[in-house]
Amino acid sequence: MNLSKLKDILKSEPDFRVRQIEKAIYKDFCENWNEVTTLPLKLREILNKEIDISINGKILKSEGSDSLKALIKLDDEITVETVLLMHKDGRRTVCVSSQAGCASGCIFCKTGKLGFKRNLRVEEIILQALFFSRYLKKQNMRITNVVFMGMGEPLLNYDNVLDSIKILNDKNKFDISQRKISVSTCGIIEKIKLLAEKKLQINLAISINAPNDNIRQKIMPIAYKYQLNELLSAANYYIKKTNRRIMFEYVLLKGINDKSEYAQELAKKIKGLLCFVNLIPYNGEDQNKKPSLKSINEFKEILLINQIPVTQRYRFGTDIKAACGQLVFLKEKNNYLK
Ligand code: SF4
Repeated sequence: MNLSKLKDILKSEPDFRVRQIEKAIYKDFCENWNEVTTLPLKLREILNKEIDISINGKILKSEGSDSLKALIKLDDEITVETVLLMHKDGRRTVCVSSQAGCASGCIFCKTGKLGFKRNLRVEEIILQALFFSRYLKKQNMRITNVVFMGMGEPLLNYDNVLDSIKILNDKNKFDISQRKISVSTCGIIEKIKLLAEKKLQINLAISINAPNDNIRQKIMPIAYKYQLNELLSAANYYIKKTNRRIMFEYVLLKGINDKSEYAQELAKKIKGLLCFVNLIPYNGEDQNKKPSLKSINEFKEILLINQIPVTQRYRFGTDIKAACGQLVFLKEKNNYLK
């Protein structure tokens, strides 16, 4: 979907046409121009010829249907993945990708293994929310939440991510409250500070994964560039500026970062911050990295004893490989989406 020709096509039309078209695309989720009956027939015919608003995507359902994963092919044939999570409480969360591939190379992440291809443009990020909005419309539902937790590091595509958030939040477009939009970063300190200045009401998640630089560097190459104490002070700055609670994500990896002493060390470092920890037991292909139930529970218990609130991520859609980058990884290997 490329709307770049729109300005030219509408140059002799009244101003309100732009608003009609934006409403049709971003609020009514029309899939083709014939559905936009507010436009004159002649204009619809031109638009049908000149601007294709279809989305080249394919859905995979998990058995329990609690999540749907889609692969979306972009104009230059690059494929990105996006996931719709259907929560029992009625939330319908879309997890969007912000980059094709990722340069950060975290060892527990498939996307990291793909390497970096390019940043996604604003319309390519929005396309993902649009894809599932169109799907849900057929069931009289809408997406309620958006998380930037798919492929890529959102803060390394800062401007496009921020512009996408504006469109998602816009009352005349998706109309999703900022509090229902989350951005997850591996810890790009200067961008966290920049984002803090914006004083948005979005949720910030920081992928921390270790209680010290030594362990962090083993699993997240980005930790060589950004020291943990500086990251925590950026987190503190963000909290002070926005008064928003931060989520620290911690992927538990057996024998690497799941020992009780690490839970103690982490608790000591983040105590007093307006935050909570989301524990994510590793669930990838490498069986050796899967933590035991005992170590998960002990880790959780120690944080709780230290008055650090803890959640544990529910494992959605494991049968469709709904963890970041897994489907595209398969596709790269096996030509999965033809
Ligand atoms: S976890 Fe996020 S930042 Fe790390 S490699 Fe994967 S996509 Fe990139």
